[in-house]
Amino acid sequence: MALNSESIRVLVVDDEQNIRDGVKRILKRMGLKVDLASQGEEGLKILTREKPAIVLLDMKMPGISGIELLGRIREKDPAVIVIVITGFATIETAIEAMKNGAYDFIAKPFEPDQLRIVVNRARETLRLTREHQRLEKERRRTLADLDTEKSRVHTILNAFPSGVVITNTHGQVVLMNQALRVLLELDPCLATGQPIETYVADEGFCSLVKSISSGKYVDFGDIPTYEFNHGSEKFLLAKGQPVIGEQCEYLGAVINLMDITSMRVMDQVKTEFMAKVTHELRSPLSTIHAQLTMAINELVSDDAGKDHKLLSRAKEKTQGLISLIGDLLDLSRIEAGTAALTTKPVQLGLLLKDVVDFLNAQAQAKEQILNLVLHSESMPPINTDPMVLESIFGNLITNAIKYTQNKGRITVEAEFAGGQHRVNVTDNGYGIDAEDLKKIFRRFYRVKNEKTRFIIGTGLGLPIVNGLVNSLGGKISVESTPGEGSAFSVFLPTEKSCELPQSTLPLEKY
Ligand code: ADP
Repeated sequence: MALNSESIRVLVVDDEQNIRDGVKRILKRMGLKVDLASQGEEGLKILTREKPAIVLLDMKMPGISGIELLGRIREKDPAVIVIVITGFATIETAIEAMKNGAYDFIAKPFEPDQLRIVVNRARETLRLTREHQRLEKERRRTLADLDTEKSRVHTILNAFPSGVVITNTHGQVVLMNQALRVLLELDPCLATGQPIETYVADEGFCSLVKSISSGKYVDFGDIPTYEFNHGSEKFLLAKGQPVIGEQCEYLGAVINLMDITSMRVMDQVKTEFMAKVTHELRSPLSTIHAQLTMAINELVSDDAGKDHKLLSRAKEKTQGLISLIGDLLDLSRIEAGTAALTTKPVQLGLLLKDVVDFLNAQAQAKEQILNLVLHSESMPPINTDPMVLESIFGNLITNAIKYTQNKGRITVEAEFAGGQHRVNVTDNGYGIDAEDLKKIFRRFYRVKNEKTRFIIGTGLGLPIVNGLVNSLGGKISVESTPGEGSAFSVFLPTEKSCELPQSTLPLEKY
């Protein structure tokens, strides 16, 4: 608010007519509004009515004394600026008046300039005071707005059906919603402000939250989801993102916790059912397969050609069913977390050599070149069940052979860099188009086109590979160009780190 002189009113209380008139003239020329009173009582009445901002008060008047009047004015409105007018001999009175709250004094007789200086100073003080009041008011309003904003955020957060927790860069909880308290069965009175470990006991979850909070993830797409048990019955799924400030600085993390117990229970029932059924089917099927083989071998007569064909087709079908059952059993084992039975240090280079040597016969049957290139001289061993690694790379190399034309080239490369193993299986085969590429890790998904239509498979190989890689705390990625070929890359740590999330099959199946 701009303070113009017009809005300032001055009351002059003096018993001398000529002083009153002279002062009025000077003040009017300064652009101020002026009221005059010849004695105290009249002055008080005008004070109540006109509410002047400045009072020029003569100390020596008949009737009510200047000091008393000063006291009454200050009582009525302590914000009024009182300038006392004193005679020559009353300098002590001036000092007393200042002690009683007068702003300044001017001694009689005074020059117009002296009056102007004193009044201008009072006017400036008034301007500063009003400016200060305006800023204070604004500050209070801003604080009130902030308070409203805060309660709005709380209300919105509490309306979320899933649990939400927000941490600062040190992983301390700054906010959490009601749903989170319910999910984690927290004491309703438990305050925020403590490290995340105070609220959630799971080590892997806490370390993921702290990694996100401290800005460890540069590429947010790399942030894994994390699944863990709360108590013996509850399964929770956590998804987190960093909170980024206006200057692109990390402020902490926001974590969403969902209760996926019902999904997990259903999944468990399904897995158990699948394991049971497939197990029951495998033995009789294997028996039929063996008997068919025997029957084919025993067909000797000349007119056995037709029977031979029929039995061979039946044998092919049983073989297909046996490998489907094998894949389903593998998946059940991965989901049950029992894929790795014996853990020991495995030299990846040697293992790859064995797998490549074994599959070379398949590649040669298609006149393909299958190569193994080890880029690192020495690679630290991986602590795992060798069967798991054989299954991962066996599947990927078999696929490369299957989905590459005769006389094609398949290269398996391995290196140890940046604390992890990387294995690339590259082929110059049929390739996969972008739409299919998104889906090939789904169960039973098979690309059906002119080139792949007649290739036998179950659509379970890649889901198995993905599940096994995850169970080792690793990652798999794929790049492919139709007509040019595909490259599958597997990244594996030497040891499954407790910082990495637990293994989970992709949740998209839900
Ligand atoms: P399948 O038993 O069909 O091989 P997978 O799960 O191993 O099942 O693979 C899924 C689909 O991905 C395959 O049907 C195939 O179309 C495609 N695929 C996998 N590997 C390759 C590859 N190296 N080149 C081209 N297509 C591939």
